[in-house]
Parts: sequence; structure tokens; C-alpha cells
Amino acid sequence: MKPGIELAGKHVLVVGLARTGVATALFCAARGASVTATEERPESQIVETAAKLRAAGVTLEMGGHKPHTFIEQDLIVPSPGVPLMMPALAAARAIGIPVWSEIELAWRFLRGRLICITGSNGKTTTTSLIGHILETAGLPVQVAGNIGTPLISRVDVSSDAGFTVVEASSFQLESISAFRPDVAVLLNVTPDHLDRHGSLEAYGRAKARIFENQTEEDAAILNADDVATTQYAPSTPAVFWFSRQKRVASGCFVRDDEIVFRRDGSDTVLLRCRDIGLRGDHNVENVLAAAAAATLVGVEPPAIAEGVRTFAGVEHRIEFVATISGVEYFNDSKATNVDATIKALDAFPGNLLVILGGKDKGCDYTILRKSLREHARMVLLIGAAADKIESQLGGVVPVERAGTLAHAVELAEERARPGDTVLLAPACASFDQFESYEHRGRVFKQLVRSLAENNAADEPARRT
Ligand code: ADP
Repeated sequence: MKPGIELAGKHVLVVGLARTGVATALFCAARGASVTATEERPESQIVETAAKLRAAGVTLEMGGHKPHTFIEQDLIVPSPGVPLMMPALAAARAIGIPVWSEIELAWRFLRGRLICITGSNGKTTTTSLIGHILETAGLPVQVAGNIGTPLISRVDVSSDAGFTVVEASSFQLESISAFRPDVAVLLNVTPDHLDRHGSLEAYGRAKARIFENQTEEDAAILNADDVATTQYAPSTPAVFWFSRQKRVASGCFVRDDEIVFRRDGSDTVLLRCRDIGLRGDHNVENVLAAAAAATLVGVEPPAIAEGVRTFAGVEHRIEFVATISGVEYFNDSKATNVDATIKALDAFPGNLLVILGGKDKGCDYTILRKSLREHARMVLLIGAAADKIESQLGGVVPVERAGTLAHAVELAEERARPGDTVLLAPACASFDQFESYEHRGRVFKQLVRSLAENNAADEPARRT
């Protein structure tokens, strides 16, 4: 039984009014809570949202957070982007006011079974893939969380017989209380968001909270190949491993061209490696994790194989854009940390022209050297982190300063030879020059498509 919560008559404060905060405020107001929402931005920047919230009876405090509001609440739900160390939140916690992430609140109302995925990289791909496999198997499934639709906005459409696949970030897991997935997946733990979590250990611990409330009836799935992850194996739920490199006693692994699930000493072949359309070893890991999760909720191997075969991948994740004059262009704008960039580099045999840079998140770029040396012909630098990246790469490959993405694409076209690949995999956040990684990826695709059009227009002239 889940611990419920009666919202009627409660004072609830929602901190931050982006998509999740708005959905949370509306959810609580609809259940009779007395809701206040506080937002740093002035009302003029979110006029329509403010009107919608007011119409639902939500009290708004715009243009900054008032500390005394925080200590008058029964429950506070900060948005994923709000640091828990914020003084007003810390003061409320110190006097015992519960501070829950939106996934905690949503989970208490959610019906059906929950599969939750976390990790530094691969969450969205794996979450989407599990959703696609369950759909292929004909199961009632919805996908939510960090992937786009806040979990709380899927509560009303959840059903006892259905499945919800939810992507959870470390920020969301940092403030859970009783949140308990039936199946919890920890894909990997590599440095990211250290600017907010402080240390890799604190970041890993936040992610490992995904297992914290699981019981013997639940399942935990972890990456056996990632030493930073294995230390977080929980003791209570049944643990299943996935591995690309070795055979595990319990879980999913690669055996020759097969992906096998081993449980209680018996092996079942789930699919063939050649069923995987996605590029790169990291995507084999995502498939292993997804296949294990699907198996554990009862999906049969043919549906898993079919789901993996027909999964088209997710936008901005090593996404093919175009071939221009024999040069392929790929958009991996979601590579916002060095590990994701290494995976992208390693997914190509070589001859890469790599666009790196953006807003630094405190990453160590020296660890890109090996993959760059092995797979790249040159690096084109954009954005604010250019100085740091150039000095940390130590000249392993030629580097050119492009400044902007538009100039980087121009330079890439000039420098590339037929057979080369131009890859945007920046290893940085986008916020110095773009609204988001999606924006950066869309701009890149647009630049490449314009290039393709110009080239097509030039073709007849060249032929004459
Ligand atoms: P997340 O939601 O965790 O950010 P995504 O699936 O959106 O994960 O992928 C983010 C980035 O990481 C992309 O650049 C992608 O190519 C890369 N990536 C995907 N899966 C993995 C993995 N298992 N390990 C490392 N990098 C990965």
C-alpha cells in the first residue's frame, strides 16, 4: 500500500513555474489544496500561465521568493531546477516541513506499475525504448517524467492495469520520501551537474535513492560494467545486472550475437544484436537495460526484439541529419557532458570533425583526448568554454576556434572531405548561446539543411 496524502485543506507551496511547477500547482489546486506558487521571473514573462493559475485559485508570488511564505506551508514542492540548498527551502526543512519533488507527490496518486529510469546518460533513450517495447507488446503504457511530460500530469490517466515508464533526474530523486518504483534502473554514474551536487559521490547517492524504498517484491537493474554504478547495488529488492562485457549471474548480457536474459540459472535469448538499429556501444547498454526491464514486467522475447528493431531513436541523440558532398552530418546536441561525447565519438569508426563547446559545467575535458585521438580529424570550438577545452585537449588533434555554431558548420563544410563525418557533440550545456540543447540541435539541423539546399542549387552550375 502506498502512503497516501490528503491535499484538501493543506497549504502547498510550489517553487518555480516552468512546466512541472505549473502542472503541480494545478494538480494540488484541483484536489482542494490552498496553493501558493512562487517564481523568480516577473509576471510579465509568464502572463498566460499566471492567468491560468489564478483562475484555478492559485496564489502567485512573482519576481522573487519570500522566505516567510516557505515556513507557513504543510508541503513544499520545488521544481527540478530549484537547488535544495536555497536558504528559504533549507529553513523550511529545518522546521520539519516536507519538501518533495513532483515525482514523489505524483507517485502517491499514480495507479498501475511504475518503471523508473535514472543515470547520467541514456535515460531518455532507455525510457522511450521501454515505452516502445511495452507498446509493441500491446500493453497499456505511458511515458513521463524528465523526458517532457511531468509525471503529475499523467496521474489522472493512469490505470491499475497500466504501466508508467518514468525518467527521473538526480534533482528529482534528491527529494523523494517514499517513492518506490516496481522496477528501477540505474544506467550509469558519470560526472555531470557537479556544479549543483558538489561531488560525484553526492550526485551518485542522489541517483541511488531510486532503490531506497524498494521491497523484496521489486526489481533493481544496474550496469555491471560501470564501477561507479555497481557500488550502489541495493540489498532489499531483487538485483538484475546488465553487461556488454561479461556474463552476469542474474540479468541481461551479450553472448556472441545474442542478447540473453539469465534468471535462476536459466537463459532466454531475447533478441539478436543485429536487431539494434541504434549506433554505438552505449546504445547496446541502453537496449540491455530496456530488455531486462521489459522481461521483468512480463514482455515476451518476440515483442522485445520487434520493439528494439522498430525503435527509431530520439531526436538530438546521434541523429542523422544529411549527407552533403559525401560528408555525413550528425546531431548529438544532447551530449551535454564529456561522457556522452566520448560515447558519440566512439560510435563512429573515424574521420570525425567534431563541434565542441558551450557553457562549461565543471567537466574535465582531458578525458576526451583518447577518443578524439582515435576517431577525430579535427575539433571546431564554439561558445564560452572554448579556452578551457582547447587548453585541456593539449593539442591531440588540430583545433579551430569557430565561435558560433553557424561558423562551425561553415568551417566544417570547408574542411571536410568525402567520407568524413561532421558531429555536433558539444560536451557542454547550451545556455551561453542557446535556450536549450533542443534549440542548439534544431539550429544545427537547420544550418546543415540550408547547406544541403545551397549545394543542391549549385549542382547544375557545377556540372556545366
Ligand atoms: P539522458 O536523458 O540521460 O540525458 P539521452 O538518452 O538523452 O540520456 O542521451 C544523452 C546523451 O548521452 C546523448 O548524447 C547520447 O548519445 C548519450 N548516451 C545515450 N545513452 C548513453 C549511455 N548509456 N551511456 C553514455 N552516453 C549515452
